[in-house]
Amino acid sequence: MATGGASESVQRKHASKVIFAGFGIVIALMLFLAASTLKRMERIDESIREISEQHTITAQHAHKMYDLARERIYLLVNIGHTDDLFAADELAIRFKTLEYEFGQIRQKLMTQNLLQEEKALLEEQRLAAVDTMRLQEIFLDLVFAGKKEQAEEVLIKQVLPAQEKVLIALSQVIVMQNREVSAASKAASEQEYLVRLFLLIGTGVATLLSVGIAFYVRESLSGLVRGLSDKSEQLRLSLRDLEFQKQALDEHAIVSIADRRGRIIYVNDRFCEVSQYARQELIGKDHSIVNSGGHPKEFFRDMWRTISSGTIWHGQVRNRRKDGSFYWVDTTILPFIGDDGRPDQYVSIRTEITAIKKAEAVLMRDKAEQEALVAQRTEELSEREAVLQKITGAAQDAIFMIDHQDRVTFWNTAAEKLFGYSREEIMGQPLPPLLMPTQSEARHDAAVDHFIITGKWGLLDKTTELSARRRDGREVPVDLSLSAIQVKGEWCGIGIIHDISRRKETEAELKLLADTDALTQLPNRRKFDAVFAAEISRAQRYEISLSFVMLDIDHFKAVNDTHGHQTGDFVLVELARIVSTHIRANDVFARWGGEEFAILAMHSDCEATRHFADKLRTLVADHDFQNVGHLTISLGLASYQTGDSIETLMERADKALYMAKSGGRNRVECL
Ligand code: GH3
Ligand code: MG
Ligand code: MG
Repeated sequence: MATGGASESVQRKHASKVIFAGFGIVIALMLFLAASTLKRMERIDESIREISEQHTITAQHAHKMYDLARERIYLLVNIGHTDDLFAADELAIRFKTLEYEFGQIRQKLMTQNLLQEEKALLEEQRLAAVDTMRLQEIFLDLVFAGKKEQAEEVLIKQVLPAQEKVLIALSQVIVMQNREVSAASKAASEQEYLVRLFLLIGTGVATLLSVGIAFYVRESLSGLVRGLSDKSEQLRLSLRDLEFQKQALDEHAIVSIADRRGRIIYVNDRFCEVSQYARQELIGKDHSIVNSGGHPKEFFRDMWRTISSGTIWHGQVRNRRKDGSFYWVDTTILPFIGDDGRPDQYVSIRTEITAIKKAEAVLMRDKAEQEALVAQRTEELSEREAVLQKITGAAQDAIFMIDHQDRVTFWNTAAEKLFGYSREEIMGQPLPPLLMPTQSEARHDAAVDHFIITGKWGLLDKTTELSARRRDGREVPVDLSLSAIQVKGEWCGIGIIHDISRRKETEAELKLLADTDALTQLPNRRKFDAVFAAEISRAQRYEISLSFVMLDIDHFKAVNDTHGHQTGDFVLVELARIVSTHIRANDVFARWGGEEFAILAMHSDCEATRHFADKLRTLVADHDFQNVGHLTISLGLASYQTGDSIETLMERADKALYMAKSGGRNRVECL
């Protein structure tokens, strides 16, 4: 509304400016037109006067000259016709006088503002006059000489035509003057016409401008009238809204109005209904009539301080009905400022909130109960957590938990020790890059993605042997027991990791013991058989050459018998060492049993193996065994042939060894 009013006053100001400026322009335009028209008319008038004056003088002179010229012709004719010489003489004097006069007037004419053409005509006239004067002199001489006939002839044939030329030139000057005057008057009338047109247009423009302003004024006025009627319509609607609001307020709110001293001067029906007091019981009293005594005095003092300073007060108040029961109201008190600048009326608008207050009380009671329960549960939980912490802290195995984003949420002391990461470092970090060997990471990621959605994982609810990576990069064999748990609807994993590196070492040691001959430290028959089985199947598959050699010490019984069993053992150890140092890396050399040894020569056919076996035979034969001296060995070998099995190969090697023995020992035989 305020904005609308402001814009209207701006509009009004604008309109009056337009009107003043418009009429100012019109008046200025009219004044200008009048002044410039007068000026122009004056100029035209002056130029016409000038032209006519000049023309009058010039024309007078020309006419005078013309008349004089003609009169002189008459004089000459009269002189020619008179017989009286005295009379002729008088006429001749008159003729001369007129010539002088003619010359005077011509002088005057020449001082006038003449055109070039006029000057040329007058020059023509002068030349004609000079000629005429010469002829006139001849004529007069002839007359006064008495030669009348000759004079007559000169007059008619020469003087009159010459004089005629003078007259023609003068008459042309007169015609030219007339033409000039008529041209000047035409130009003046054109000028006048233009001035009239100019005046007409100016007047038209001024009239149009006036009409425009009149229209503008009419539009502005009708706009203002429209604005006023709009405003009154708005006002009417606002009043209607206010009436509705008042009705709504009266219907739902408890309304009262108090004077400056707090005495009630108005209450609505709802006030009476809720408080159970009749209107006449309330009017003139103050609000202490409904005071329940449920609020401290300071509460009301603060309320009065607020509203008497002109500020709106808002609060919840417990009131008392006439029957003594209580009701709660949400109260807003609006102070209305009087002419003296102090509040002179207080309008209170209240909403009954007794039901809400009751519900609040119930809620508060429930809340207190709930809080007590939560506190109890929290205590129990923290106790349980402390116990759990103790258990997991004392546990020898690493215990950890990962959330649905594969980030560590629990990490016990044993985990710190096993992996080398402190709790602070690893909490919230993703697990795999820290603990998984690189090759397992991709598999782990895929499995975790599946687990997050389904809660299923191949590793769950069982113990799996894995390799874990410590902080120092070392990999440790571990047993992982993983179980799943849902926390806030998300799948999480709990893992227990047991370091099995000690067990793995023991297992390796045991395996080594099981595969090794205790005396010579060579692979034993058991190990040899396992390797042999694998190699023979490879040879069968790929047709790779492979040879099997059986080595037996000659007359070993005699060594035992002569030097004792211990020396026999020493010989066995020594022999194992000698052969080991000459065997190829990929070949397998094992103790077959007793004083017999076996060699599996890879990628080696009968000839090559025989050559190699013979080298070994020579080596042993050349060796000087401590306390025993020289010993020999016999070797029987068999190379793999298509269709061979371990048994057939062994059988042939055994046979070959037997042949070597029976052939005199210290020999190599191949089958
Ligand atoms: P040859 O092979 O040349 O026919 O004669 P030999 O004397 O070597 O005969 P044979 O192979 O039958 O005898 C093997 C002997 O090796 C019998 C046994 O006392 C001895 N022997 C077997 N195992 C061991 C052992 O571990 N230590 C010692 N010191 N002797 C062993
Ligand atoms: Mg033997
Ligand atoms: Mg032997």
